[in-house]
Amino acid sequence: MSRARKPEWLKMQPPAGERFTDIKQSLRERDLHTVCEEANCPNMGECWSGREGPGTATFMLMGERCSRGCNFCDVETGGMDPLDSDEPENVADAVADIGLDYVVLTSVDRDDLPDQGAGHFAETIREIKRRNEDVLVEALIPDFQGEADLVGEVIDAGPDVLAHNVETVERLQWPVRDRRAGYEQSLSVLRQVAEESDAYAKTSLMLGVGEYDHEIYQTLGDLRSVGVDIVTLGQYLQPSRSHLEVADYVHPDAFETWREVAEEELNFLYCASGPMVRSSYRAGELFIEALEREDASAAAARERARS
Ligand code: SF4
Repeated sequence: MSRARKPEWLKMQPPAGERFTDIKQSLRERDLHTVCEEANCPNMGECWSGREGPGTATFMLMGERCSRGCNFCDVETGGMDPLDSDEPENVADAVADIGLDYVVLTSVDRDDLPDQGAGHFAETIREIKRRNEDVLVEALIPDFQGEADLVGEVIDAGPDVLAHNVETVERLQWPVRDRRAGYEQSLSVLRQVAEESDAYAKTSLMLGVGEYDHEIYQTLGDLRSVGVDIVTLGQYLQPSRSHLEVADYVHPDAFETWREVAEEELNFLYCASGPMVRSSYRAGELFIEALEREDASAAAARERARS
């Protein structure tokens, strides 16, 4: 497969701005990792400073090395360090110090730990909420090998949004994801979130890894049928030549079409869809906008019922 040239719409400005610098400094002082920086995400400036609303940053818990090796991901595999027991408090301190209103917590997979890190995840959520219960917390969790009691441990910690990424369509789970991941396993995690928690269920799909349109449509339908509220779609970008090749660069118009399908036909609460969209892209702003829309339509429905 010849390497397709990157189209114009994927060229972004490097992140900048005072808020961006402040956040970077606070993170360094506490030796904390963000996915934003690890992935050198082009949206950092926008997300951290928050265009019209709360700034969003994504903290990566449980170290920089993963027990799995997905072919699309730039995170190092193997050689994981023991958990840092101060991390939950450090993250909560940083969130309070930076003054974030919406924080995303994610992590590498830790199949090597007895509870696969579920307890550490839950404790970090609780520490943040203990300092300021108004901070909105989105927890982007691993699949915990589909173990319901481990997913339940994070649910009980009370995040506002509970996310798990299905990443791609069923046919392409392998070779895109590690063999320990799977479509049905990810759907079962999302179904449990929708059925057992008050949190909004969220997931993400990468496009451009060889999927067909009918498969994207099928996947959106499956996600909606298990109760997923929020979905994001973004372009897969190859981190290095040793990673999965990009099958094609999906045009921004196609992303917009999928947003309309997801929101207007399948009734997702909201769908962030675009070439540069990532699972936490402007997560805070878009979530609050969606809640306001939801409240407005609920109020309108009540009004209509009364009249
Ligand atoms: S499990 Fe997550 S962090 Fe680990 S390799 Fe896969 S995508 Fe990357």
